[in-house]
Amino acid sequence: MTSATDLFRELTGSEPLGVWSAPGRVNLIGEHTDYNGGFVFPFAIEHRTSVALGLRDDGRIRVVSTFDPVPVEVALADLDALFPARRDEIVEWARYPLGVAWALLRDRVLLKDADGGTGVTGVDLAFASDVPVGAGLSSSAAIEGATASALDEIWNLGNDRVSLARAGRLAENEAVGAPTGIMDQMASMLGRADAGIFLDCRSLEAQVVELGFAPAGLELLVMDTGVKHAHSTGGYGERRASCEKGAALMGVPALRDLSVDDLARAEELMDDVTFRRVRHVVTEDQRVLDAVATLRSEGPRAIGPLLDASHASMRDDFEISVPELDLAVDTARAAGAVGARMTGGGFGGAAIALVDQGLVASVALAVERAFADAGFAPPHIFGVRPADGARRDA
Ligand code: ADP
Ligand code: MG
Repeated sequence: MTSATDLFRELTGSEPLGVWSAPGRVNLIGEHTDYNGGFVFPFAIEHRTSVALGLRDDGRIRVVSTFDPVPVEVALADLDALFPARRDEIVEWARYPLGVAWALLRDRVLLKDADGGTGVTGVDLAFASDVPVGAGLSSSAAIEGATASALDEIWNLGNDRVSLARAGRLAENEAVGAPTGIMDQMASMLGRADAGIFLDCRSLEAQVVELGFAPAGLELLVMDTGVKHAHSTGGYGERRASCEKGAALMGVPALRDLSVDDLARAEELMDDVTFRRVRHVVTEDQRVLDAVATLRSEGPRAIGPLLDASHASMRDDFEISVPELDLAVDTARAAGAVGARMTGGGFGGAAIALVDQGLVASVALAVERAFADAGFAPPHIFGVRPADGARRDA
């Protein structure tokens, strides 16, 4: 596989000044809670996106990726005009790294030179990645995190990791145009080997919580169904609207402000569909809190039932599962998984299963067989381990 450094040499004929990388992530529990101001509990994984960086003296930024060998180059001083108004002029993938550069520079107007320059040096960036794209592992946060870390250091911006996560989100929301929360970027920036990131999406307070999967003899399997989210159906937006409606009916700013004890009143106040959407979010917030407490007191094996309950809630109350996800979850559990749930926004993507190391092969085989019997396309099944967040590698 071509490395970021190889690609950089091909692009420039010289050696990079440095190499940075940032990981993808898996969300262990806490789904559709982020935009309700609630709790999530993701961890960074060993799959990473690397960027090799070199300086240029002409105030321009050039990006290239193993995904797309055609380099994209613009003047740093033009980024403000390009994003967000003229983003369509930039090929989609390049909006991620160029958007991060734009986001980092946007709030630094005072640093701009009198002649309208940006006050920072031009750069060449070459990307290589082993994070699967569109499998719910957040390849987007990985490319954003690698870019943000590299540029922050080279440009001497001095941002902390939370600010770099915010820059990634700003790029994704404004420069790419995807209305996502900040969970992915926070996980990619703050991840630690063998730990999860317990995140309060309202305050952005993050706690590193030891997961202890390997010492407990457990492995986390990702079962990618290969079913692509049909964004066109607008399911994500509809769910967000239901949550806002539910919060308004209860007179609170966000569903985060409700507890399980409020659900009886919610059921009286709203229609059945809105109530079930609200019940998912409120109980999911509680499951995140319970998962963190259970991990700390009893260890990872004890969180299985919470993973199972999270899946049932997404399937029955939030209604964002698909038959492939349900089959993967049910089959993994029947084959001995400690717990399993769909992960990510829903309507496709991947499920996860927490499995005894000795059962990994048989669980994977059972899921593959079940998919074949159901006439579904073969799933892609692999283990992930909690890993460190964004860093400089060379
Ligand atoms: P994911 O669940 O993988 O984050 P997204 O749709 O959010 O899916 O982001 C995937 C998009 O991010 C890709 O289509 C591409 O535009 C961009 N991307 C991610 N990684 C890379 C990379 N290494 N090189 C170029 N573009 C990338
Ligand atoms: Mg993404």
